[in-house]
Amino acid sequence: MSGFEGSFLGANDKISPQAIMECKICWTPYDPNEGDDTRQVLPGTPFLDLPDDWKCPNCDAPKEQFLVAEDPGSDAMRDAAMIGEKTKALVEDFTEVWHAKMRDVPMVNKVLHVQAVAFQRYEGRPLGVLISPWFMNLVMLPADDEDWSKLVAGEKETIGFPSGEYEFIHNTREMVGGYKACSLFSPMGEFKTQAQAVEVAEAVMVALFQEEHREETDRREDIRSNREEELAALEAAEQDKEHLDEGELSEEINDEDAEGGALAGEPSRRTVLTVGLSDDG
Ligand code: FE
Repeated sequence: MSGFEGSFLGANDKISPQAIMECKICWTPYDPNEGDDTRQVLPGTPFLDLPDDWKCPNCDAPKEQFLVAEDPGSDAMRDAAMIGEKTKALVEDFTEVWHAKMRDVPMVNKVLHVQAVAFQRYEGRPLGVLISPWFMNLVMLPADDEDWSKLVAGEKETIGFPSGEYEFIHNTREMVGGYKACSLFSPMGEFKTQAQAVEVAEAVMVALFQEEHREETDRREDIRSNREEELAALEAAEQDKEHLDEGELSEEINDEDAEGGALAGEPSRRTVLTVGLSDDG
């Protein structure tokens, strides 16, 4: 069943390159796998790429008179659009944080900007890497039928992937709602360009799903003890913070701790996924 009943009328964004179309006058199909040898259209040519003056091979009806018969690619397109919407909110939210609160914090890397990289579904949940001037995190968002709005910020959860198990921290934001984040890098001083950070983020998303790394990377205990050190540092920082104003910056420091533990001093990296990555670039 196609997503729309009327004629296609140039609604190019609604059909995928795999769409099989049919003439609504004579029901002759156009299948991109076959092309149209009456007009030298090669197999593999999507309907959208047919010339504007292409006509029905049987009745000469114009291209606009074709309807979607079957579109195996449209679900994937819809899903990609949905993930795109969610990651857009994530990027807008953290870009807002960047401009409003983080710009003047010394540890930020002003060469970088907020960007969502390689988001895809993992067990139904959008998962990818979020780059910002002050952290790089694996970020997991809820599946379409899940409500994570009640997640408790700072709560830990170990999540398994083919390459091993990683500790995620729960958090919520106004625009994004609930999400789970696993710190990869923080702070981000060692990245020289945005492109380098993106390259590392993409490599992380590949390494995450490689089973052959499981043994060497299954370091849950290490992660836990690192995290405990970070939390101890965080607690100390919390107490210092009491003396700051209760306003925006201190709130941001809170968020940052939950995110990456930057106040622990050492650049912390989730070695499991990121060892050597930023040095190679
Ligand atoms: Fe026709």
